[in-house]
Amino acid sequence: MKVNYIIVGQGIAGTLLAHFLLKAGKTVKLIDKQHEGAASKVAAGIINPVTGRRIVKSWRIDELLPFAEQTYQEIEKQFDIEIFIQKNIIRSFENNKQFTDWSVKSAREGMTQYMSDDYEGTALNGWIKSPYAWGEILQSGRVDVPLLIDNYRNRFVEKGILEEADFDYKQIDFSEDLVSYKSIQADKIIFCEGWQSAFNPYFSYLPHEAAKGEMLIVRIPNIKLDKLIKMGVFIVPIGEERYWIGSTYSWDDLNDTPTEEARQDLCKRLEKVLQVPYEVLEHHAAVRPVFKDRRPIIGLHPNFSQLAIFNGMGTKGASITPFWAHHFSDFLCEYSPLDDEVNVNRIIPTT
Ligand SMILES: Cc1cc2nc3c(=O)[nH]c(=O)nc-3n(C[C@H](O)[C@H](O)[C@H](O)COP(=O)(O)OP(=O)(O)OC[C@H]3O[C@@H](n4cnc5c(N)ncnc54)[C@H](O)[C@@H]3O)c2cc1C
Repeated sequence: MKVNYIIVGQGIAGTLLAHFLLKAGKTVKLIDKQHEGAASKVAAGIINPVTGRRIVKSWRIDELLPFAEQTYQEIEKQFDIEIFIQKNIIRSFENNKQFTDWSVKSAREGMTQYMSDDYEGTALNGWIKSPYAWGEILQSGRVDVPLLIDNYRNRFVEKGILEEADFDYKQIDFSEDLVSYKSIQADKIIFCEGWQSAFNPYFSYLPHEAAKGEMLIVRIPNIKLDKLIKMGVFIVPIGEERYWIGSTYSWDDLNDTPTEEARQDLCKRLEKVLQVPYEVLEHHAAVRPVFKDRRPIIGLHPNFSQLAIFNGMGTKGASITPFWAHHFSDFLCEYSPLDDEVNVNRIIPTT
């Protein structure tokens, strides 16, 4: 069997890369070990165009966001499902200085379409503690990443192009321009393994700085929330009185085992703001694929051009993956060069 590309990993990265390559008329074979603790399975999928204490636009959001919306709408039509749920984020401020800073920045050119200082918060009275003031982040929302991946998984299985297996690096064979894996020949093998690329012998040289994150799914009965709340913790409505609560960050202990410490931390942060009872339904952990400079890692292996990587979606897979998957697909189809800011060749292997 010969395909253009073998894609290893079917998280949001592998899924969207396959989406664009198939659209470009290429043939693919996906191999995924169905890792339950994959980041894409626990992410809230929040799209947040304004981030950080310094209140800045998310990296390249003006070009990434419209492309992400367009891609998700296209996939929604294809599967007749809703995956991009547009709901603004409201963000709390504890004092006048914080709020004034927000107001001033929200009036700046290039920021008005993403920020507002005009949210009253009266709809939250009685169940969320009132902060000094609220700000609103516009054009935000959430992507139902697990639903996207599941739908595509079923489609790939139907087409016979997804194999459920742990990829075995020892079975890679190189020939002049091609590469083979077991009985499959391909132009390239593209690794979309999330943080587990740290164990890939061909890409372990990359400066991995993966971050473990934990989250809860809770039930909060009898409230109505049509926004996402950022108030020491994210409270994200996901339907049927269920809310995604998150998240934590930890740079050691990299595994997908939920810890009592993180559960208590999340409950404590939630109880600080929530004034009504809640019940914890689920608790999960996963590791975010982050590299040292916090940018995606995309491109061909410096010594084996038949091997490639599409990784490093970090904490923002929902907003940035569509654009970069399309960009990489264009590169592989030889339509355009790779953007230097994401090209894996910015990192020189030390051995
Ligand atoms: C708690 C938490 C909250 C988050 N919240 C958000 C959020 O609100 N918004 C946002 O945009 N992002 C969020 N993220 C980040 C987001 O999850 C990631 O950016 C994104 O999911 C990374 O996707 P990926 O496909 O690169 O990796 P993954 O989702 O980890 O997928 C990797 C896939 O590769 C497979 N795989 C790995 N190794 C092998 C192998 N050797 N053989 C076969 N298969 C293999 C795995 O089975 C898996 O399916 C969050 C992450 C965490 C942990």
